[in-house]
Amino acid sequence: DITDRKATSAQIEELNAALARQIRDLAAANQELDAFSYSISHDLRAPLRAMQGFSEALLEDYGERLDATGHDYAGRIVAASRQMDALIQDLLAYSRLVRVEVKLDPVSLETVVDEACGTIEMEVKERGGEIIVERPLGRVLAHRTVLGQIVTNLLANAVKFTKADTPPVVRVRSESDRGRDRLWVEDNGIGIAPQHRERIFRAFERLHGAQQYPGTGIGLAIVQKGAARLGGQAGVESEPGAGSRFWVELAEGEGATA
Ligand code: ADP
Repeated sequence: DITDRKATSAQIEELNAALARQIRDLAAANQELDAFSYSISHDLRAPLRAMQGFSEALLEDYGERLDATGHDYAGRIVAASRQMDALIQDLLAYSRLVRVEVKLDPVSLETVVDEACGTIEMEVKERGGEIIVERPLGRVLAHRTVLGQIVTNLLANAVKFTKADTPPVVRVRSESDRGRDRLWVEDNGIGIAPQHRERIFRAFERLHGAQQYPGTGIGLAIVQKGAARLGGQAGVESEPGAGSRFWVELAEGEGATA
């Protein structure tokens, strides 16, 4: 019956138009939120720098005139403002990730992993640990900077969340399956209980106090959002006390290597 069919298709068109309107509104709201958090993060840093600088100057230039309590207070201001600066920097990195235009090219995992290892080399050495890279690693379709952020965060965590008196031993390897490449970062650290394995990927979710393990709680949010922006996924397998195996899965990259 043609009348029925016409009515149905008119209804579908109406629904489609409503959906398109909602998507437009949502995109505009998202854009506004991004711009807002970006400018807040930027503008917050200037007064923070002043706090940091003057409290450091207080300790350096007037340290002799301060008693022990005065020293303690000024030291706490320095530490708190440093922590806040780290938070803002991480927030900026996260918001950049949401805003940046991501163009995908073939990227060598080895290049990215080697670069990331370079940034934490000192820390690994100081702790008497090692990072073992099982070469060759594959090639993936990615945006090099974003992939670098992902790998750096995973390696930094693998080296940080160690058991007391156990130097970090981190293994990096890749595995290829039906056009997808999975990069694994495996550590011998404290591990993660099953009930926490999803929530740690959300921004600001941390399982420990800053005293025990310093951090901002944004690293894994960058890992997950970054992987999604590259058309991939990230996750973890772990047992408490028996280390963690974080993974990022991306499409395999053909052709020239970035
Ligand atoms: P941060 O490292 O700044 O705390 P992340 O977002 O990178 O923030 O990690 C969130 C939380 O996930 C950490 O605070 C920690 O509790 C847990 N976590 C992350 N990586 C590991 C790991 N390799 N081993 C054990 N726990 C981890």
